[in-house]
Amino acid sequence: MGAGRAQGTVDYLLLGGGLAAATAAEELRQRDRAASIIIVSGDTAYPYHRPPLSKEYLRGEIGTEGTYGAGGIYVHPLDWYESQHVEVLRGANAAALDAESRSVLLANGMTLHYRALLLATGGRARRLPIPGAHLPGVHTLRSLADADALRAELSAPGRRLVVIGSRFIGLEVAASAIMKGAYVTLVDATPRLWRGLMPPALSAYFQDYFTAHGAVLRLGHAPVALLAGADGRVGAVRIAPAQEGSTWEDIRCDVVVVGIGIDLNTELAAEAGLALGERRAVLVDDRMQTSVPEIFAAGDIVTYPDPLAGWMHFEHWDHAVAMHRTSGCFWRRHAGCCGQAGGLAWSNICAAAWRTMHSAPSTCTKIGWWLPCWSTTPASSICCAI
Ligand SMILES: Cc1cc2nc3c(=O)[nH]c(=O)nc-3n(C[C@H](O)[C@H](O)[C@H](O)COP(=O)(O)OP(=O)(O)OC[C@H]3O[C@@H](n4cnc5c(N)ncnc54)[C@H](O)[C@@H]3O)c2cc1C
Repeated sequence: MGAGRAQGTVDYLLLGGGLAAATAAEELRQRDRAASIIIVSGDTAYPYHRPPLSKEYLRGEIGTEGTYGAGGIYVHPLDWYESQHVEVLRGANAAALDAESRSVLLANGMTLHYRALLLATGGRARRLPIPGAHLPGVHTLRSLADADALRAELSAPGRRLVVIGSRFIGLEVAASAIMKGAYVTLVDATPRLWRGLMPPALSAYFQDYFTAHGAVLRLGHAPVALLAGADGRVGAVRIAPAQEGSTWEDIRCDVVVVGIGIDLNTELAAEAGLALGERRAVLVDDRMQTSVPEIFAAGDIVTYPDPLAGWMHFEHWDHAVAMHRTSGCFWRRHAGCCGQAGGLAWSNICAAAWRTMHSAPSTCTKIGWWLPCWSTTPASSICCAI
């Protein structure tokens, strides 16, 4: 094991310590017992699943120890990496990629040469471009460290939380916070929840669902400033009126969560000259091959050709996992590999779980559910049928 690295070149160098890189490492090891595999991760933790960070982990129902589904959040048991001879360089940021010399420079000055490279650098949470966005008490949620900070804020009941953004992260955090006894106000500049992704019927369902459980909705109101309280922490969110001529409103709060999407970590790819598409996503073919030889990409950062939908960009768990077979066989000598990516979006809003292929079409008006109730029991499920 590790022969490639001893000679100065890593067989498979995986940039990014998230789900896509960790599952690719697993697939690679199954296919190639002798290759050297290194994961370079900007995160200090071993690869973990992000979905529980806005759900069970945020609510304190599970800890970190163990894999997801076995009481923790990790993708693999921590001893898996040693037993499988997969080296993980944690807290190590790749600073430059030179496609010509097939090398990656890390921020700590180390240079790694590769035979094949996988870019799986995911995204970072967007910040609001308004005054007060960096005040203490204003949170985004992408990493385990973010979840720890937010979990501490919500540990006492009765906190006044304003959630800005009404899609996946915003709604999941809002639901978890309500279950923890927080008073939640949801703010979004768009007029309905999940606009652009869900049909009006599903938006209406969730609007009723949140209102019925005590959330205040401020839809159609753009946040314009976050105001400091006497202690220097965030104390209020100022929102614009929904219609001209109406009054501005300051929503008092103790904590703010901003869930307005991610920016893709594709700066390395751009500097190395890889072809990028909309939103600066890395363009790959059906084998996850980028426009540059021996550089592959997977997970949130890619746009790929979907046999049904055409070019797809999908920032979801299922997609990162489904790509592992493809990204994991990215070394061309693994004959018989075919490209595949997942198109299933899913979310859990407390007891209500829903899933849909890609996004629910606007023709979807029929919503079926079983035992809808507001509890910690995952007893109900919403599915969308066309
Ligand atoms: C709170 C939360 C809840 C979610 N819930 C759901 C859900 O319910 N359902 C669903 O389908 N999806 C969900 N998702 C989305 C899902 O988690 C992502 O689609 C998935 O994590 C993407 O995996 P990835 O490996 O592509 O990227 P990421 O998980 O973002 O991993 C990228 C990694 O790359 C590292 N990195 C970045 N730049 C560098 C660099 N230069 N050098 C080294 N390392 C670098 C980062 O530190 C990070 O560890 C959720 C996401 C979050 C944040």
